[in-house]
Amino acid sequence: MSSDSSKGSGANMQPQEPANAPPRRVENAAVGGAQELNAPVRSATKKWRAGVLGATGLVGQRLVKLLADHPWFELTEVAASERSFGKCYADAVTWHLDAPIPDVAGALVVKGLDPNLACDFVFSALDSSVAGPAEEDFARAGYPVVSNSKNHRMDPDVPLLIPEVNAGHLDAIPLQQKNRGYDGGFIVTNPNCSTAGLVLVLKPLADSFGLEKIFVVTLQAVSGAGYPGVASIDIQGNVIPFISGEEEKMESEPQKLLGKWDGARFVDAGIGLSAHCNRVPVLDGHLECVSVGLKKIASLNEVREALKNFEVDAELASLPSAVRHPVVVLDEPDRPQPRRDLHAGKGMAAVVGRVRECPLLDVKLTLLSHNLVRGAAGGALLNAELLAARGFLKHRTAPSESQVTERVSR
Ligand code: NAP
Repeated sequence: MSSDSSKGSGANMQPQEPANAPPRRVENAAVGGAQELNAPVRSATKKWRAGVLGATGLVGQRLVKLLADHPWFELTEVAASERSFGKCYADAVTWHLDAPIPDVAGALVVKGLDPNLACDFVFSALDSSVAGPAEEDFARAGYPVVSNSKNHRMDPDVPLLIPEVNAGHLDAIPLQQKNRGYDGGFIVTNPNCSTAGLVLVLKPLADSFGLEKIFVVTLQAVSGAGYPGVASIDIQGNVIPFISGEEEKMESEPQKLLGKWDGARFVDAGIGLSAHCNRVPVLDGHLECVSVGLKKIASLNEVREALKNFEVDAELASLPSAVRHPVVVLDEPDRPQPRRDLHAGKGMAAVVGRVRECPLLDVKLTLLSHNLVRGAAGGALLNAELLAARGFLKHRTAPSESQVTERVSR
């Protein structure tokens, strides 16, 4: 936990408060004017109530697990499809994690997608066939929506966020609310699971040397396809050189993430990007072989140092799910490997190895990131923590009986 008081609200915590207590109201204007517009009135210790849409899926259950002992958030609602509706969570979910279903979640009754949940904000881990309109319904009803789904990632007024890369893109939220007539609600998304690791590694290279061209080949785990995902008979002892829509996402999302919010729109980074995406018989963890063309000449040593020295600022370091060094560089010639390196930084770090010269572009490397943690649930949680720290989350109050009566009688 950082003690730097010059940046962000996480740094506003008083010394006598317990470590990782929810942040106080932000008074420091250093992180942008939007914060004052959204600054909630909240106590130092009251947690924000979180709902998870799509809580029964692979990403949703990771979120449920991560929320169970979160210092700032408490899980109060789970929602999923009609198949799960009305069941208690423990009965509805096909649980895939080693640790048991958290007690706080097991007894919750699974709700549907009616935007009337007892929570202050929602995570969306919905299948993309339903996520688009459902997320809009929740935002329109006043809920901040922290999404994992692809539907709104490239919308011109929706931040596509990796806090270590483009936290400033949150400044787009007030315009999104104005454009769409949202009162308190909004949508923020995280990138596709293979884009998340790639862009985390590209960020320090972009800052130090500039990026001209990227060529990437992925080897993506089966859990990236959700549950039940790819049929076992198709993937056992096999590689499938096609993942629908994945290459398009990998070629477009980094442009937005590494680009800029200019106050009115997102300006793409303008990098040449080509991606090949493959599904491989690995359970968790996407491996990516990347060649990079840099704008500025750099030695291999300078590239390694830029990656190793990538460190988050004090504001991000104060977020519970952040890791100080989100890129880990290994020197062994045969790493990273999914089985050995998946959990670096509790799954929130991208692990890089094999940094070497590229005869076609300038430098090539191999990277690994956890598709369900950094690439989905953990990334969404970090996004929500940044939203909380910057004053974008409010404690919603349930409508009073008279308000409900008034609404019904209109
Ligand atoms: P999943 O295992 O297939 O889970 C999908 C979830 O959506 C389940 O909770 C399911 O509920 C719910 N759902 C499906 N149809 C619904 C409907 N008509 N109404 C309400 N809920 C419905 O998928 P996942 O892997 O967790 O992925 C969730 C989202 O995150 C997807 O948009 C995916 O593209 C994205 N994502 C996934 C990964 C990854 O590595 N897996 C990474 C990044 C982003 P039931 O159980 O009741 O059917």
